[in-house]
Amino acid sequence: MIRVSNLVKDHGPARILDGVSVTFGKGQVVGIVGPSGSGKSTLLRCINGLEQFQAGEVAVGDTITLTGSPTPPPKTTLLRLRRAVGMVFQQFNLFPHMTALGNIMSGPVYALGKARAEAEAIARRLLDRVGLADRAAAKPAQLSGGQQQRVAIARALAVNPAAILFDEPTSALDPKMSAEVMRVIDDLANDEQVQTTMVIVSHDIRPLLRIADVMVVLERGQVIYSGTVNDAPPGYLE
Ligand code: ADP
Ligand code: MG
Repeated sequence: MIRVSNLVKDHGPARILDGVSVTFGKGQVVGIVGPSGSGKSTLLRCINGLEQFQAGEVAVGDTITLTGSPTPPPKTTLLRLRRAVGMVFQQFNLFPHMTALGNIMSGPVYALGKARAEAEAIARRLLDRVGLADRAAAKPAQLSGGQQQRVAIARALAVNPAAILFDEPTSALDPKMSAEVMRVIDDLANDEQVQTTMVIVSHDIRPLLRIADVMVVLERGQVIYSGTVNDAPPGYLE
């Protein structure tokens, strides 16, 4: 589904990603761990077209390819990429002036061109899915962090992406809210109907190991492990 080949990313003289190759399969749940500064966020941002890279390739599905280049990819490629690959950020990044329902409807309406009634039906189903059916009219500021993050997950799902990339989705949350967000992700991961690939960067190791099908360990911009959860090097999994 997503294939990263020999990706090299520099910031000035610093090499941030040093020949990263990883493959994420359809419907797979991939955990990414590694020390702070090892390049986890940069990798997700390169996959999602938020950053350019110097060399290598990112392929999403059969039709979207990004190649190492100093200039951004064509707008049409970026649009198709953003539709195929959603992001969930540490700081939720909801639209503050929109209700929870409006946030979730925005993708179906603006990116997919759906009629408002259909978009609303999608959004209400997803709000229910993340346990927030009764908070449809709430603005982000009226929701807890955990609730905001669950809305952000519903918003990412609303365009039915091939993959969702989660960058430290629980690190701004207290343990109770972290658990409720991880429970939502776990629930999606276990749903046969949901074929979305989920790539999760997290320090919340215990729930991550339970949810993930495979683990990737990054260190200083290199993949030092990629494989089953059970065989992952123990030093990183505490
Ligand atoms: P992680 O998410 O694993 O903590 P990041 O991908 O955020 O790591 O960062 C990897 C490295 O790249 C860090 O050393 C960071 O300082 C550096 N870096 C990230 N963004 C920039 C930037 N815009 N300019 C220069 N260096 C950057
Ligand atoms: Mg990061």
